[in-house]
Amino acid sequence: MSDIGTKTVALIKENAEYQEASLKPSKEIMKVWKKVHSDMRSEFGEAVFRSWLKPLSLQAFYHGTMEVSVPTRFMRDWIQNHYSDRILAMCAEASEDIKRLQIVVVQGAILDDIEEAPMNSAPAKANQNEQREMLAEVSSPLDERFKFENFVVGKPNALAHAAARRVVESDVLPFNPLFIYGGVGLGKTHLMHAIAHALQEQQPEKTVMYLSAEKFMYQFVKALRSDSAMNFKEMFRSVDVLMIDDIQFIAGKESTQEEFFHTFNALVDQNKQIIISADKAPGDLTGIDERLRSRLAWGLVADIHPTTYDLRLGILRTKREQLGADVPDSVLEFLALKVTSNVRELEGALNRIVAHADVSKAVITLESTQDVLQDLLRAHDRRITIDEIQRKVAEHYNLRLTDMHSARRARNVARPRQVAMYLAKQLTARSLPEIGRKFGGRDHTTVMHAVRKVEELIEEDAQIAQDVDVVRRALTG
Ligand code: ADP
Ligand code: MG
Repeated sequence: MSDIGTKTVALIKENAEYQEASLKPSKEIMKVWKKVHSDMRSEFGEAVFRSWLKPLSLQAFYHGTMEVSVPTRFMRDWIQNHYSDRILAMCAEASEDIKRLQIVVVQGAILDDIEEAPMNSAPAKANQNEQREMLAEVSSPLDERFKFENFVVGKPNALAHAAARRVVESDVLPFNPLFIYGGVGLGKTHLMHAIAHALQEQQPEKTVMYLSAEKFMYQFVKALRSDSAMNFKEMFRSVDVLMIDDIQFIAGKESTQEEFFHTFNALVDQNKQIIISADKAPGDLTGIDERLRSRLAWGLVADIHPTTYDLRLGILRTKREQLGADVPDSVLEFLALKVTSNVRELEGALNRIVAHADVSKAVITLESTQDVLQDLLRAHDRRITIDEIQRKVAEHYNLRLTDMHSARRARNVARPRQVAMYLAKQLTARSLPEIGRKFGGRDHTTVMHAVRKVEELIEEDAQIAQDVDVVRRALTG
């Protein structure tokens, strides 16, 4: 222990009474903290210090507890998990009066300081190869079919399409971020992939990262667990174009939002392009921090409207050509008229009749189409709602409607609830998160699990298969 340390201890002891009475740290404790804080730089390295530890600020000292603050919960948790033991040891070494370390969140505290810290922190840079590897691992694969040439433009998506083109063709950033939103199955992901494909072809020197918000969150959590948060940050901040699909997934996920927010700011400051998609306009995203929502609307916000008859027909014609299938116009017109929910379902319907004709070696006619698509068409003739499904399922199993929303996990309630989720996925065009919300605010992963589970059970358990069938008939019949 250093000289200063021993002196400090002695002085602290004299001051003990004052300290017991007050939370305000004594001059000596302040001195100890100052030294420990600056020692952290060599102890943990420059990069870690600048990104995480620099904002630490001494708040109080009481009964041997040293209380230090950080500006965000995310930082607190991270420091708590990774550095707090070592910091306490350093403190205790400097002054034996320090027995505990308490990290608290004081919002607004020197936030400016850390916001710029991460992107300025050049040290500890992962080497280029390492970064490229990580980039490939972290990005989501691109669908080869989702290119501009396969995207049919019509009135409902003209703005979003034009904006996407601009991003690819413009030398300077036309707007930042580009925010594309619209209902499920209307072409958001297709447009995002199209941008990424085009950039790779036309500007191969640029690093383009495309991933779903879900994957962003997953990568982030994984990085936290595996101690590689620094590399994670660097990687995201080193790309030229960052594309995050379905940003609504990070609703309610505070630390992921926080991290995304920092990444967002760092990239915008460096003039890097950001492209975001969501199911709603920025202002309508619930569970997303106000600061982030307003940033998302900074650039161009382009919405994709529900399809029109003309667009649906256009898409079907293009699809028919790609499939090289012999489908009469009358059938395409019929489908464009009937399957109005979204493009994904429209494609699904066409694929089904083509596949059916292939297998049965029959020609496709309006009649065969109506026959093959019976269930789908019926559901569309009379739009089935999640509320209806819940009511019918509850009725069938003799439960109360509230059991569909409740947190009760007893098998006799949970199983029917899963059946209802499964039917909601099958018979409506609602997305997993939307369905989850309708079932008492459950997570989309819960819905996904339910759908898989019921799929399994239908194979294994004749009773369940029959139950599902009965309820489905009641709904579609
Ligand atoms: P979203 O991401 O909005 O839910 P997707 O981009 O996944 O929707 O689109 C669903 C399907 O519909 C995809 O197979 C996509 O290729 C197709 N699709 C959507 N819009 C168009 C369009 N304008 N032209 C051609 N295909 C489209
Ligand atoms: Mg999508």
